[in-house]
Amino acid sequence: QPQIILLKEGTDTSQGKAQLVSNINACTAVADVVRTTLGPRGMDKLIHDDKGNVTISNDGATIMKLLDIVHPAAKILVDIAKSQDSEVGDGTTTVVLLAGEFLKEAKPFVEDGVHPQNLIRIFMSLFMLNVLHNGQAIEKIKELAVSIEGKSLEEKKSLLAKCAATTLSSKLIGGEKEFFASMVVDAVIAIGSEDRLNMIGIKKVPGGNMRDSFLVNGVAFKKTFSYAGFEQQPKKFTNPRILLLNIELELKSEKENAEIRLSDPSQYQSIVDAEWNIIYDKLDKCVKSGAKVVLSRLAIGDLATQYFADRDIFCAGRVAEEDLNRVAAATGGTIQTSVNNIIDEVLGTCEVFEEKQVGNERFNIFSGCPSGWTATIVLRGGADQFIEEAERSLHDAIMIVRRALKNSTVVAGGGAIDMEISRYLRQHARTIAGKSQLFINSYAKALEVIPRQLCDNAGFDATDVLNKLRHKHALPSGEGAPYGVDINTGGIADSFANFVWEPSVVKINAINAATEAACLILSVDETVKNPK
Ligand code: ADP
Ligand code: MG
Repeated sequence: QPQIILLKEGTDTSQGKAQLVSNINACTAVADVVRTTLGPRGMDKLIHDDKGNVTISNDGATIMKLLDIVHPAAKILVDIAKSQDSEVGDGTTTVVLLAGEFLKEAKPFVEDGVHPQNLIRIFMSLFMLNVLHNGQAIEKIKELAVSIEGKSLEEKKSLLAKCAATTLSSKLIGGEKEFFASMVVDAVIAIGSEDRLNMIGIKKVPGGNMRDSFLVNGVAFKKTFSYAGFEQQPKKFTNPRILLLNIELELKSEKENAEIRLSDPSQYQSIVDAEWNIIYDKLDKCVKSGAKVVLSRLAIGDLATQYFADRDIFCAGRVAEEDLNRVAAATGGTIQTSVNNIIDEVLGTCEVFEEKQVGNERFNIFSGCPSGWTATIVLRGGADQFIEEAERSLHDAIMIVRRALKNSTVVAGGGAIDMEISRYLRQHARTIAGKSQLFINSYAKALEVIPRQLCDNAGFDATDVLNKLRHKHALPSGEGAPYGVDINTGGIADSFANFVWEPSVVKINAINAATEAACLILSVDETVKNPK
């Protein structure tokens, strides 16, 4: 029998059960990497590359991105972590862990010869169930969940701060979670409509204590380079008019290739003067506009700086585009590309403009802006890596608050919701005959990974805590539903009463994405690698 050659020489294929099992093993290995970062007692990962960049992070998506995973199947887990990050902003460790656990539970069935499609069908139906579950278990939690709709601003703020605090509790800055949570909530409320995430600026200033971080209801940016004369400018205004420019206010040096022919030497002076006249004319127009603060994206030279200083005007050149745009949005000004015809409407304003010392840096701060659609968090802290991680954590918290504002329902965290869905599914399984019952049970068991891992990471006896939780959740009255891991005592506690809250969308999204990913991996029975 001659051999039939289908694929190019050098093609690497592996198929069948062995391939599927090896894919599952790879995914489990990935989940094992992030496993220990889950929860308030989770550990952080230090990742460094050969260029000497060091990142310390607790964020699942960041870790997965930096790990640079090459295994084709395990890459799917990286993708779901990333998508969870961009979709909801938090729950990135959770999603990887769940997907890994679903696969781990499926593995013995696959090894015993169960056809993967049977597993997929059941998992998918459960996944549908989870959405439906919006009809059942999740709905049930939602009953207990507090909706922030229709509350007063003060109440809303405190509820949102609880969600932000839960997100932050697992991070490096968890020790100051209340402090940062209320800051994040204020920032998000300040920007109002939700599509303006870039309107929350985060500025990092190394040094100081993280408690020195502060929120500016407006825009803040680092003082730009300035010329002599700057010291004489006033550094504080109330209700100033603000002129935003995209032009250079500098004496232009003559072009090297310019050629001017003079017949009369006395004309020379007029040529020199002309240049000065142009710039003085520009400066004069700026002053006439009535602006007290002049910002430009391009350079403001020493002549202009002195000119403004003599007239009690503040100026800053080479302002970063992003910052200038935010000043424009916040103060209601428009960026000008010419100083001709500066009408009143294009000038911005704010309650207070101030240049202030923050650590070793000086900051230009615009607060009390009329449109109010921006906020800036100035982050302080010791090491660079620390501030970087703090920024990532705040980003998570900002996203969570925005999600909670939008979807306005929250569920109990600390593994409570996971236990409740698990219990519900086990109950559901009992009504189903045949092998499917086993599959559903294994899926339900996989959900318990969240509370189990929370315990493991905190050094608690997971078996003991889980037994207590199972017992509590099984109470027919349903009063046990909000019970989760008590991270302080190592027992169980009402997560809801303890304000361990998460927006429901985080959980729904995480479970759905993890189920999908698990099914996707289960459906692969052959990997083909084409030679280049
Ligand atoms: P993720 O990247 O998935 O958000 P985290 O490390 O942020 O991972 O951990 C989130 C988990 O920690 C959630 O299940 C949440 O309910 C739980 N959690 C957060 N704070 C507490 C707390 N104070 N007590 C118990 N569980 C908590
Ligand atoms: Mg988190």
